[in-house]
Amino acid sequence: MTESLDRALGALYGLAAGDALGMPTQTLSRRRVVELFGALDGFRAGPPENEVSAGLPAGHVTDDTDQAVIVAELLVEGGGRVDPDAFAARLLAWQERIVAAGSGDLLGPSTLRALRLVAEGASAGTTGRWGDTNGAAMRVTPLGVAMPATDLDRLCASVGDLDRLTHDTTVANAGACAVAAVVSAGIDGATYTEAMPAGLLAAEWGGRLGHHVAGADVRRRIGWALDLTRGATDDELLDLVDGLVGTSVATQESVPAAFAVAAAAPHDPWRATLLAARLGGDSDTIAAMAGAMVGACTGLSALPPAPVDTVRRVNALRFETLASALLALRSRT
Ligand SMILES: [Mg+2]
Repeated sequence: MTESLDRALGALYGLAAGDALGMPTQTLSRRRVVELFGALDGFRAGPPENEVSAGLPAGHVTDDTDQAVIVAELLVEGGGRVDPDAFAARLLAWQERIVAAGSGDLLGPSTLRALRLVAEGASAGTTGRWGDTNGAAMRVTPLGVAMPATDLDRLCASVGDLDRLTHDTTVANAGACAVAAVVSAGIDGATYTEAMPAGLLAAEWGGRLGHHVAGADVRRRIGWALDLTRGATDDELLDLVDGLVGTSVATQESVPAAFAVAAAAPHDPWRATLLAARLGGDSDTIAAMAGAMVGACTGLSALPPAPVDTVRRVNALRFETLASALLALRSRT
């Protein structure tokens, strides 16, 4: 396996493993996560009290992985460009499938609002005007695999294009550009620490793309969260991220949270995702973003084989073909 394929697979399986680890803990308080799961050390089933994930088996992924796969497939089909009409149709079809399966894991607030506007006939370029939550950052990883970070301006512009349908705002673009840039730098061989300047710069540039919405500066909050948690023990880290950085679906909380948790385990994607899953709140998305970023910077070879096998088997995931196709797009550009 080439180094870049190992890293592309690290990003995608890191994302899926983090998503599945956070599946049972999402929406719960940090205190409740400890009561139910102790020091979480692997995949667990969705507990009955979890309104989103009750009944899902251990290792099951959620919207984060499903929608990243949709983005990956559309990028490949579109030769590196995601067609917004196809994107809307694919997201709606996904939601119908999820509803039919009886899952409570539905489209997030920004995507749902945008697709309602699409259905009402709103003109292109207006539907994502208020989308500021973390759906854009949670599903952007395939774009980071498909595009090099050497031309950061171009990478950020492509993120802005992808986000226009549902998350066409300064806050959402800042978060998605930051995640995409770290993933992309990782594919090119950067360590997580080495990828950080690109992530911060991309957050700054992304923060100028799309409609302005009020919200704290994502780039500055990432830097602050990294400073705040540097040198912390695991429990101190989780307390700081839970209590100060924030774990909600707000981009300006969950993206800095993912960066801080990833920085605590920059060479160990499994440990980064376990830490993130213990947070509660939007822990599946935070763990998915942390797993994608660290996984891209270490490669699949740094993930333990057993959980990767589990997440592949439970969800019938086969990322090998997708990763190769995304890398083929990357080498073209
Ligand atoms: Mg989710």
